[in-house]
Parts: sequence; structure tokens; C-alpha cells
Amino acid sequence: MTNQNFQIAVIRGDGIGIDVADGALAVVEAARARVGGFRLTIQALSGGAGFFRETGRDLAPGAEEAAAGADAIFLGAIGLPEVRHPDGTEISPHLRLREQFQLYAGVRPVRAYPNSPRRLADPRAAEIDLVILRESTEGLFYSAAVHNRNTVASDTEVEDILRITRPTTEKLHDFAFKLAAKRKEQSGKGIVTCVDKANVFRSMAFFRKIFDERSRLFPDVKTGYNYVDAQALDLIRRPWDFDVLVMENIFGDILSDLAGGLVGGMGMAACAEIGDHHGLFQPAHGSAPDIMGQDKANPLAAILSGALMLDYLADKSGVASLTDAAQVIEAAVQEGFATNRLRPMEFAGDMGTKAVTSEVIDLIRGSGPVIRQKAKML
Ligand code: ATP
Repeated sequence: MTNQNFQIAVIRGDGIGIDVADGALAVVEAARARVGGFRLTIQALSGGAGFFRETGRDLAPGAEEAAAGADAIFLGAIGLPEVRHPDGTEISPHLRLREQFQLYAGVRPVRAYPNSPRRLADPRAAEIDLVILRESTEGLFYSAAVHNRNTVASDTEVEDILRITRPTTEKLHDFAFKLAAKRKEQSGKGIVTCVDKANVFRSMAFFRKIFDERSRLFPDVKTGYNYVDAQALDLIRRPWDFDVLVMENIFGDILSDLAGGLVGGMGMAACAEIGDHHGLFQPAHGSAPDIMGQDKANPLAAILSGALMLDYLADKSGVASLTDAAQVIEAAVQEGFATNRLRPMEFAGDMGTKAVTSEVIDLIRGSGPVIRQKAKML
């Protein structure tokens, strides 16, 4: 037992982000207490739209430096529709962090839990277990307003740029192959599908060319290809056949919501954003102002993001008990759905944010022996 300490920078943010972040951290602590072998120090950092309204800043002074120095960053959700910058854009310090820390690998696991809502009648929908890997620093978002990169814009014409670079794309594909190899060790399919539009765009042909180059370094992982339009169709027609899907930024933005919809809703959508030196973990949903302050939010997306964070730290540090803690959380959610002990209001159940959180904690405390597995994510 190393009992190594890890520094976690936490930005709870706004709306339901505050409640689900608290829930996720309580669950992470329960998993840590269950398996032991490491410690976590939580450093709360103020930030978000509410903070901006009060102070005129989107993050507290020193918060970016603290986040940079932490072993991982955990975020609830940021943004309130009525709080905006003078140019009308929303408060989004997390997008700045993504850029600053070059968090190029956006990891969105999509998994069918027992008894959770399914949109597809086919019984094979119970087997859905895939990951959308979305490049998150370039692609078509290269031109997005947050980056302030000028494109041709007049009252008769506007252009946005789709940018693919070799260094980022090589790292992204390597990440995809390593992820598929790790998943294969835990009964994953070991396939990476390159999702692109290589038949039309030079940028996408380049993306695929680099995919082919890098695939040769990972001979144990199978490769597949799909054009993005066909992939949209296949995610409805046969999502159970896929494992890791790697793609450009805007394609990932769209397909990750589609895939998430297959297995429930936003309250199940966990997310990790990984760069070479930093990792940021957050539920994929927003601050949901329509249900904030009502204890209605499903905290499981945040809780599962907490498990991704533990897996990431395990991979980074080699401390195996972090993987055990991540597995304990995953298993508790799995068992909670299978035994109907988890009934989030989001799925017309009777359990609010606090009830779901404490049930997951109870499941963790009462769980059986931990069977050690390898870190799944990275
Ligand atoms: P953003 O642009 O920041 O992602 P958004 O307004 O597009 O925000 P969300 O804030 O994620 O989207 O909310 C979209 C819908 O999903 C809302 O109706 C919200 O109540 C619901 N929702 C989001 N997260 C959850 C959750 N954890 N539990 C239950 N419902 C949720």
C-alpha cells in the first residue's frame, strides 16, 4: 500500500453542477474508504456563471494555477442562461482550461445498464458498451468563438476552418488504440473504428491516413472505418457491434449525444477530457437550470465521471487501488440498476440527487470482495 496522496481541484460551478459534484465526491470518498491504499486532497475552486455575476471573473484568482498543479480536475457544470459576457456568449472557463491544458482526448463512454431506459427494442441493446473518442482541441471547433480565431465573415459570406494537425491526430489515434487494448483485457472487443468523411474532405483523408499509420503500431487491435453519415445510421441499427469510435471534434459532439440517447439521457453521460499532462472530469450535461435546486438531478453522470478520474489517476501513477476504487463505483451502479435499488427521477423513478447518491454509497459499503482488474480507460 503506497497511501499516495492525490490533489483534486474541484470547480462545482452552477445549477445542478453543485449538487452532482458534491454527490460524486462523496461517492469517490466512499470508494476510497472501501479499498484504501491512496488518499485524496480536495481543493475547492470558485468559478462559473454565478461567481462571474458576483465578481466579474469566471474563475477565482489563482484557480487556473491551482488546476494546473493538481493531479486531476473535477468539474460539476458551468453556465446560467441569464449570465453572459457583453458580447452575448456564455460564461465558459472550462473551454479555456481545455484549450490551455490541450485536453485533446474527449472520452465519452456509452453503456447500457440493466433496467435503465433503452430507445431500441432489439434485445442486443442491453449489450451496448462503446466509447466515443472525440478530438477536442481542433477540428471544426478550431474556429469556434471561444478561440477568437478570425475567419472570413461579412454580410454575404462566412467561413469556418476545420483544422487537423499531425501531432494531435497521432496522439488521438494512439489514445484510441491503447484504450481499445485496455478494454480488450476486460472482455472488450478490441476494435477502433475511424469515423470520418475521407471520401470528400482532404482534412478527413489526412485524419484516416494517420489512423492507418498509427494502427500499425498496435497490431493486436482491430481496425474499422465508417463515414460519419453511415456511422449515425449504424449507431441506431447496430450499436452493440462497436467498441472505440475515434473522430474529429464536431462529429464527436454530435454522435456522442446520439449515442448517449441510446442508453438513457444526459444524467448517465460521463466524460473525461485528457491531455498529455492534465485530465478534467465532468458530467457531459450542463447546469440544467430548469431543475436546479430541486434535488431532481441524476448524479450518476458525475459519479461515473468520478470513476473515470480514479482510472486516469491509476494509469498515471501506477497505484492499483485507484483502479479498484473505480471498479467499485462501476460495480455499484451496475448492481444498483440490476436490483432496482437505483431509480433516478430522470427515468421516472422516485429517487432524487441525494437519494441516488446515498444508495450508491450504501452499495459500495456493502459490496463484496474487490477483484483486481487493470485500469480500463487509458
Ligand atoms: P449546456 O449547453 O451547458 O450543455 P444545455 O441547456 O444544453 O446545457 P443541460 O443543462 O444539460 O443542457 O440540460 C438539458 C436537459 O437535460 C434539461 O431539460 C435538463 O433538465 C436535463 N438534464 C441535464 N442533466 C440532467 C441530470 N443530471 N439529471 C436529470 N436531467 C438532466
